[in-house]
Amino acid sequence: MSHRGARAGNGGRGMHWIRDTTRGRIYARDGHRCVYCSAPRECLDHVIPRSRGGTNAPRNLVTACFACNVKRGAASVRAVFCADVARAVRNATRRVLPPRGVPF
Ligand SMILES: [Zn+2]
Repeated sequence: MSHRGARAGNGGRGMHWIRDTTRGRIYARDGHRCVYCSAPRECLDHVIPRSRGGTNAPRNLVTACFACNVKRGAASVRAVFCADVARAVRNATRRVLPPRGVPF
């Protein structure tokens, strides 16, 4: 059910591949903590890496810290982290984003 075509035309431009509001809503959805290690949020991580065809949709993005982002690289979540973490990632991507306009 993740069709392309609904992107806002801001993909792939340096660090502006995602709108700040969307980024903030994903941070809020995940409790402003790295889904892998619970460190304070520092970036977003693609569940399915871009290099493997993953999209910039919120369902494919989770909050992460730089250390975990680097540690994972383009490997699958399950290849690097334990089953509990993989489950937490899956649950995070299924949560509904908080509404726009909520401060983060
Ligand atoms: Zn982390």
